[in-house]
Amino acid sequence: MYMTTFANLFEKKILDREDIIMMLKAEGKERLFLFERALQVKLKEVGNKVYFRGLVEFSNICSKDCFYCGIRNSNNNVTRYYLTDDEILNAAKFCYENNYGSIVLQSGENCTTVFADRIENLLRKIKELSNNQLGITLSVGEQSEEVYRRWFNAGAHRYLLRIETTNRELYKKIHPEDHSFDERLRCIKSLQDIGYQTGTGVMIGLPFQTIEDLADDLLYMKQINIDMVGMGPYIEHTETPLYKYRDRLWSLNSRFDMSLKMIALLRILMKDINIAAATALQAIDPMGREKGVKVGANIIMPNITPGRYRNDYHLYQNKPCVDEEPENCVKCLDARIALSDSEIGYGEWGDSHHFFKRKES
Ligand code: SAM
Ligand code: SF4
Repeated sequence: MYMTTFANLFEKKILDREDIIMMLKAEGKERLFLFERALQVKLKEVGNKVYFRGLVEFSNICSKDCFYCGIRNSNNNVTRYYLTDDEILNAAKFCYENNYGSIVLQSGENCTTVFADRIENLLRKIKELSNNQLGITLSVGEQSEEVYRRWFNAGAHRYLLRIETTNRELYKKIHPEDHSFDERLRCIKSLQDIGYQTGTGVMIGLPFQTIEDLADDLLYMKQINIDMVGMGPYIEHTETPLYKYRDRLWSLNSRFDMSLKMIALLRILMKDINIAAATALQAIDPMGREKGVKVGANIIMPNITPGRYRNDYHLYQNKPCVDEEPENCVKCLDARIALSDSEIGYGEWGDSHHFFKRKES
């Protein structure tokens, strides 16, 4: 009887907050039904291809102090690094030669002009070395509109900036006072206005976070018409202020499972966007990203940071693949993706379908 009511929810044209909360609480048969439905929607709307974005974590130097993040400015037990331009360009070359299609440049936040100039220069060089064929995503935090525009003009066409949580009160609890929720929103809006394929996302299972908050996060992503989402479980790090709340967290398994439900529901709510299977999923379950692909995700970000730096980009405990070099990942990912009945879109950008529809409307 309950299963019939649950299945009927999927026939509704618009899911409301209560429906979403009910789905996020699904267990047993209902949970499996949600996952199956999400996979069907994905196959129908965006197909069974998984697109790669080679991830270069090019610097762990950060001016911010987010209470959850292992590379926050106040953590003195981090060896800070900055890849040289040549190292970054070599990573781009690796991406290009291995047909990854796209690269993601990610780092801590740095708002200096030296940084802005350097990124602009690197963007042009990456375009040049790949004959304009490598798609470029940036994920380097909050910047001025002018800087976002310069980088867009230099060749970046996607940008990831997670809102982290859409509950303002919770946002305040997990950030120092001078980190502004409204500034984060301003940045996302400005990225959309400039013409970037814009991505956001949240952490799942933060201390004090409720299922209702997560339902609101999903509705928010729909409301702002986002093109791409990367979201995954919050994982504690010993040297962060949030670590003191570890006893009140959901278990790692529950955070993992809730992340799968969030991906599945988002796929149902926003059928044609790109959804990444976050690395943090793999930190909890070795097959975590593949499980994400099975419930609606279509993007994977293989880490192509040179191995010797990976241990210093520790956002959370148990970060996977820290002792590997990019070359090791290629074959391993091929096999893993085949296991999830998907095909890798080698050499393709795999842009968000949603972005093009948004631009037309
Ligand atoms: N500094 C940029 C920014 O914050 O947008 C980009 C790099 S930052 C490390 C990328 C993402 O890592 C953040 O948006 C956050 O969601 C995630 N992150 C940080 N600490 C985390 C943790 N303890 N568990 C899970 N994700 C975490
Ligand atoms: Fe810096 Fe990003 Fe970590 Fe915040 S989440 S401390 S901005 S690297």
